Amino acid sequence: MSPRKVCLLAGGVGGAKMAEGLAAHDDVALSVIGNVADDESFHGLWVSPDIDTLTYSLAGRIDRSQGWGVADEGHRALETLNLLGAETWMSLGDRDFGLHIHRTMRRAKGDRPSDIARDVARAFGVTSDILLPTDDVVQTRLRTTDGRWLSFQEYFVRERCAPEIRDIAFSGLDMARPTPEALAAIASAELIVVAPSNPLVSIAPILGIPGINEALRAAAAPKIAVSPFIDGKVVKGPADRMMAALGLRADALGVARRYRGLADRLVIDHADAGLKAGIAAEGPAPHCSDILMKSQADKARLAREILDLAFAPAEAMA
Ligand code: GDP
Ligand code: CA
Repeated sequence: MSPRKVCLLAGGVGGAKMAEGLAAHDDVALSVIGNVADDESFHGLWVSPDIDTLTYSLAGRIDRSQGWGVADEGHRALETLNLLGAETWMSLGDRDFGLHIHRTMRRAKGDRPSDIARDVARAFGVTSDILLPTDDVVQTRLRTTDGRWLSFQEYFVRERCAPEIRDIAFSGLDMARPTPEALAAIASAELIVVAPSNPLVSIAPILGIPGINEALRAAAAPKIAVSPFIDGKVVKGPADRMMAALGLRADALGVARRYRGLADRLVIDHADAGLKAGIAAEGPAPHCSDILMKSQADKARLAREILDLAFAPAEAMA
């Protein structure tokens, strides 16, 4: 049988784990639509952290101890920048810098960001398709309770998620056009998976690109989301505080409400079995599993369970 076409919507670390799990299976042809809203310019270079996390993860080059950045990395370039008085709070490694230089040079030549991402992934030996939802610039902006607007990296890295968030906006979103590659991947998918990524700053800026949400709703494929919350807590990152700040429940039920109308099913952790009835009543149909992905084996097993839910439901429910 030819491989099943699976389209994954993914942010950075949580998204890359799910991507690795799906890519581990020979019967899957994977397209990953990543998030560009964390992109930002540093030292004159265009950095695309979530797309690079996907690329490095699927290439087996990721620093597994932190889940982002390149393994066996050095920081000599950053040392020089620091000596020269540049702001160096964004930790960019030497190997990583090479990619940012290349990306920036090609963007300056007028190459499509999607083409650059595709070529970079191929050069690193990635066999899955890494797609951008848009070639336009869309950037997350977070308004703090003290009235400042921060970029995602200023909030996440420079200020270590300390400020309370009042509002989230995406500059450029309304005018952004979806890429034909992303629309085609959605339309032709046999299964659409929403990774356990941050719903508000990783998945929302993909869904918000005009045309993407409509394409998802029109797609015939089953849609299965995975919760980034386990037992009412995030595995990592600020999704819990962001959800609470916007008046949303910071748990799997909050995720279910958020993905109502988008996902048919939500995979939640066994620890959240108590939320099943609530989720079933007002969100996608819940399915309990072990959704913490620590090892490569965990990722592949969760991916297989999701594939079975879509393609071999009798086995998955047994
Ligand atoms: P970022 O762009 O690096 O912040 O990554 P994502 O948006 O893709 O993912 C962040 C979310 O991933 C957080 O809300 C975490 O709770 C979630 N996450 C990380 N690891 C796991 C895991 O092993 N299982 C599940 N279910 N969620 C995870
Ligand atoms: Ca991110």
